[in-house]
Amino acid sequence: MNKLEKKYKAMVPKEFKLESITHVNFDPHPYTIGIKHINQANEQYCGVLGEDVMIAIPCANPGCNLSYDEHKSDHVMILSLSCDVLESKVAELLKIIVHEINKDKIDGFAFVKNGFNFIKEEERNKNGSTGGHTMVDNKRLP
Ligand SMILES: [Zn+2]
Repeated sequence: MNKLEKKYKAMVPKEFKLESITHVNFDPHPYTIGIKHINQANEQYCGVLGEDVMIAIPCANPGCNLSYDEHKSDHVMILSLSCDVLESKVAELLKIIVHEINKDKIDGFAFVKNGFNFIKEEERNKNGSTGGHTMVDNKRLP
């Protein structure tokens, strides 16, 4: 788990579980690191292969002449549900983290299907005030 994932793991409400924060939808492909990057890192950056090296050396993918910045992708937070969750909880989640995700340049969310579901407000009301679903089942939480 990286630093960004640790930060958001502590922030997301218990109804949600942070799976990862990752890049998807690469255009044209992920920026590729080659031997030139490793040599540059060793010679000028004390062995640290960071963004500075990637900016200085073009992509190592055969036939690619694009710079590091010309490789695009979406930065996405992958979440799952810890229990059946009312749809309105997503708005609450967004309210809690919107400023931080903008600051951290996270483009959006994706939810992994894991057996728990979003519940529409109408469905909950149909089944009476206590509802047919348990919004937070503490026995299922770690
Ligand atoms: Zn490339």
